[in-house]
Amino acid sequence: MLNGVPGRWITCRRGLRQGDHLSPFLFIIVADVLQCLIRQATHNSELRHPVDDSLPCPVLQYADDTLILTKGDVHSMQVLKKILDNFSLATGLDINFHKSTFVPLNVDTHTAAAMADVLGCFLSSFPQTYLGLPLSPHKLRVSDYQPLLTSFDRYLAGWKARLLSSGGRLVLVNAVLGSLPIYYMSSILLPKTVRDMLDAKRRAFFWTGEEKCSGASCLVSWDRVCLSRGAGGLGVKNLEDANHCLLMKFVHKLHSPATLPWQCWFHSHSGPGLLATSDSYLAKLVLAVLPLYRTLTKVTLGDGASVSFWHDRWLLDSTLVDRFPALHSHSTDDMVTIRAVITDGLLPYLRPRLTRTAAAEHDVLASHLSQVTLTASHDVRLLATMNMQPFTSRGAYHLLHDSLIPSDVVRIWSTRLPAKVKFFAWLLYHGRLNTRAHLFHRNIKTHDESKCEYCVDTLETDVHIFVECPRAQAVWSRLRFVVHESTLRRPWNVTLPSLLPGAVKDDVMILIFWHIWKARNAKIFDHRDSSPTEVLRHISADIDAWSCRYRKLAVELHAWHEWIVTC
Ligand SMILES: [Zn+2]
Repeated sequence: MLNGVPGRWITCRRGLRQGDHLSPFLFIIVADVLQCLIRQATHNSELRHPVDDSLPCPVLQYADDTLILTKGDVHSMQVLKKILDNFSLATGLDINFHKSTFVPLNVDTHTAAAMADVLGCFLSSFPQTYLGLPLSPHKLRVSDYQPLLTSFDRYLAGWKARLLSSGGRLVLVNAVLGSLPIYYMSSILLPKTVRDMLDAKRRAFFWTGEEKCSGASCLVSWDRVCLSRGAGGLGVKNLEDANHCLLMKFVHKLHSPATLPWQCWFHSHSGPGLLATSDSYLAKLVLAVLPLYRTLTKVTLGDGASVSFWHDRWLLDSTLVDRFPALHSHSTDDMVTIRAVITDGLLPYLRPRLTRTAAAEHDVLASHLSQVTLTASHDVRLLATMNMQPFTSRGAYHLLHDSLIPSDVVRIWSTRLPAKVKFFAWLLYHGRLNTRAHLFHRNIKTHDESKCEYCVDTLETDVHIFVECPRAQAVWSRLRFVVHESTLRRPWNVTLPSLLPGAVKDDVMILIFWHIWKARNAKIFDHRDSSPTEVLRHISADIDAWSCRYRKLAVELHAWHEWIVTC
């Protein structure tokens, strides 16, 4: 059809290949036909919207997923079937009714079966998978999250966990297992049971490489492992916090100017500032993460229409609830916006007869409010970091975790040693190396089995292994270093001869501890004695082997190497 006049017949010679830039446009042109057919049928009153007769039936199409919602009766199904058949004939796109499902809602079983018969589809029920997520009008059960748990198992089964070092397993836990649930967590608040199941799988894989592990196999608590590296953890993702931060994306979009249909729909149901309660799933999500969102963000005031007067951080560094608790206790409208307060004044939103403390707080607040002016622009929310960055889920997660007190353990992670050595240093730092004393305290070994291999009647603690035992003393005296109990967990604090450069000190000191530990393991497991000379030789061999990691620090590393070789 050209300018309304039928032209000559076009013979189709070459189709579009998958991945061709034209194919999405072709898809839109074709998919639009189905939308038009259904809209026309609604217009002719042959098909009806499930709720509102004035609207066309909703059709959602994404790639090869199509979702059509109509009123549930046999006649509508006959019309729909006819439309789909006509569409199929016209476009040549075959609709596979055996692969499609028909889900009735509030329809009795007899009618539902008749309707499924008309369409030739299988009768199914919720939850349905749509775009990879379970879709259901009801609360999801734990069993509905099985696809997510199965995806974890599929990865775990493929990895030869026992052949990996702890450092290698840590990389997989962080890079793969931590990312798998992100898609789910971006839309769904995972139930605690599901989070715990995922954590159990991650924990067992990390500590033992197996499917399950007992508490005794975990050397450090999972809560600590989930802290950021700067705060003394291993930077493994805390699923609960990650879930909240990903969902905060919705809350943030709802605080931005409404441009998308779902934002407009939500605002029309919730009123300004997301403050009215609603029992929809999205409203519950929003309410679950709103308090945290408010603590992590700070508002640059525009028109004040979307900012909570009491609960947002906008005027001072903290919220007004925290700053003026006595005055807030007189508030009649907890959800009042700033625009309302600036327009009407604060007094209409307070109970009359303030207490003396509240009146004093009111005076202070009033002097602050007198300097506030509103503009016509929209309020802007930024993450409450030092340099006030725009809101992102990742930024919010970092803000939540990096605000914990930083510790010097971060020095371990800034070395260039292999992951397994860093992990050893991390365990040493926390005093959680698997020494015999540790095994004794966890009732895995008896007191008699927990002695040092070399010293009679001395419990094998980490202090003994690295400081007190004559074996360690011999290595330290050869190196002419003095190691005390106080410097055991922080090898970088050992006092050194001044000619040794400080740039690679952390690396080499951790390496020396690592080889003393390896020599001890060789004695226990292989019954092999390592003399101090052998330990020093292994250290210098490792420095040689890993020198490629220290290109810019080659001179410093060489100085250390020379020192160790001549000892
Ligand atoms: Zn000893």
